[in-house]
Amino acid sequence: MIRGFKTRAKALALEVREELNLDLMDPFDPYELAKLYGIEVVATSVLLPATAPKDAISGALVPTGTGTIIIDNDSEPPGRRKLTTSHEMSHVVLEHEFPAAIVDEQGCRTTIGDQEDEATFLAGELVLPYNAALKLAWRNTPDAVVARDYGISVHAAAWRMNASGARMLVNRSRKRRR
Ligand SMILES: [Zn+2]
Repeated sequence: MIRGFKTRAKALALEVREELNLDLMDPFDPYELAKLYGIEVVATSVLLPATAPKDAISGALVPTGTGTIIIDNDSEPPGRRKLTTSHEMSHVVLEHEFPAAIVDEQGCRTTIGDQEDEATFLAGELVLPYNAALKLAWRNTPDAVVARDYGISVHAAAWRMNASGARMLVNRSRKRRR
């Protein structure tokens, strides 16, 4: 990732959330953001024949003649779909240009690794901003409760609470005060 990207992305996520009238602690809905950006989200159950393998893809950003659509695998758990759609919308917000991004178990199959890292980082900030994670860490909110309140998997909640550095920062501050 380019130096300074994370700082910019944190600010950008708050701006985007503001466009949706969300306060810091409010849960984020990537489908609302897609609507705001005029991007159609199409479910695989609508797009693919019933005989197609359900795990073929978890999400995709596909350019059409007039714009872009997002493909959403609606056979997957809602928490996962939320994060995947947030990731695809992050590519849109960051104005990444590529022919098509398809997300599978390994992430998008694009060759531009930096763009994947950037989209994943921004998606995390959209779903649960760092400052919100920090507040939750001070409140000792368990990952399972974060997951429930933000409509993401417990795994994703743990990722936001830990990889963002929120819990670590709070733990360090507490130790220093003892
Ligand atoms: Zn991607």
